[in-house]
Amino acid sequence: MKKIQGSLYFSLTMMTWIPLIIFALTITIFSSKALKNGMEDEVEEALRNLGFSIMNTFDRVYSGDYHVNDDGYLEKGDYIIYDDFSVIDQLKEETGMDITLFYGNTRVLTTIHDMENKRIGGTYAADIVTEQVINGGNDFFSKELSIYGKLYYGYYMPLRNSDNSVAGMLFVGKEQGEVAAKVNRVVKQILLIALVALILAAMFSVYFTTSIVESIKKMMEFLRKVSTGDLTAKQDEKLLLRNDEIGEMGRLTLTVQRSLRRLIERDALTNLYNRRSGDNKLRELQKEAIESDRPFSIALGDIDFFKTFNDKYGHECGDVVLKNVAECFFRHFSSGKGYAIRWGGEEFLLVFKGLNEKEACEEAKRVLKRIRDCKISYGDYQVSVTMTFGVAEYGKDDTIEKLVKRADDRLYIGKSNGRNQVVME
Ligand code: GH3
Ligand code: MG
Ligand code: MG
Repeated sequence: MKKIQGSLYFSLTMMTWIPLIIFALTITIFSSKALKNGMEDEVEEALRNLGFSIMNTFDRVYSGDYHVNDDGYLEKGDYIIYDDFSVIDQLKEETGMDITLFYGNTRVLTTIHDMENKRIGGTYAADIVTEQVINGGNDFFSKELSIYGKLYYGYYMPLRNSDNSVAGMLFVGKEQGEVAAKVNRVVKQILLIALVALILAAMFSVYFTTSIVESIKKMMEFLRKVSTGDLTAKQDEKLLLRNDEIGEMGRLTLTVQRSLRRLIERDALTNLYNRRSGDNKLRELQKEAIESDRPFSIALGDIDFFKTFNDKYGHECGDVVLKNVAECFFRHFSSGKGYAIRWGGEEFLLVFKGLNEKEACEEAKRVLKRIRDCKISYGDYQVSVTMTFGVAEYGKDDTIEKLVKRADDRLYIGKSNGRNQVVME
């Protein structure tokens, strides 16, 4: 298995996933909390409103104060309400809320039933409720009310007689199960949405991370090849087309490769191939020629009387001439049918691909004319030079050394015969 931890892929993935997961969890936790609080506020409000309307209904239906009659039954005004469940049962049916009427802290009328389905009348309210509502005369809302094993949201309000004394209290409650189920449903929906968003974000993250890491790996592969001396290694096309910093890095590594190749293959003064790379190219051409049976020829050229030229105009002017001569070669070979090599100081080797000796001789004559016609400005001087060329065609039994020697012999003949000419067999 590949080492993942400690890799760029791992770091980039963690960089996106960890904030995403934290974000999703935070959103889910906070939104479900806010939802629960909001719903509880709503429940409290609904319970209070219902409480008030029940109190009003009681006052309307049974006018008068709450009191216990001589037989010990609860009355409101002249009405015994001890076992009159009709009003609260109907309200429960309409609203789904439980209702209890307390006299003091004792349950008198209630819609709540125990396990045996008996109303829980006669039981007492919790101490805290008694303290707050009966003694304190305040409303009381509880989110954690346990009545006979069931959790309730409960709202208590004091029932007052006409002298404002607290006779008992009214309880309106809603079982938590329904509210919790509603909250759970919405939280599940939020979780689902967060999960879908997380998966989408993860897909994007995987796509971009893979693309970045793959591009960097390709760049590393390329640099590894270049560092082991492969200056012809190809950079990945897709990487070069990237419009970001990684694409820019890819293009820069290619520039580095080209610069290295230039430094190694080219002559610094003239920018022509140097002798070493020129020699390699000739050997490659020799292989191609053998395989394809296509001819090629060379012309070894040397600037005439260059020593005298240097002596007369100076070495710097000589360098300018060498550059201009190279320029003439570049122009001649601009169509790509051959190239020039700086073979020695003022000696150049021209390679004519696909040409036999006669054709190469004609080409060399054209090159010579170009050089002869080239007027070179140097300070106050306007100078020109001539060259002598020896042409030779590659024969199938030739070595490169033999071929060059043949061209050199002809160059020598040209020099002896008055220079400024092209010599073939
Ligand atoms: P020939 O016509 O017989 O070739 O005469 P020549 O004077 O050109 O022959 P020779 O080989 O005696 O001289 C070559 C001269 O080329 C000597 C050297 O100063 C000059 N030379 C070689 N390389 C450079 C260079 O890089 N810059 C300059 N300015 N001169 C160079
Ligand atoms: Mg020479
Ligand atoms: Mg010379």
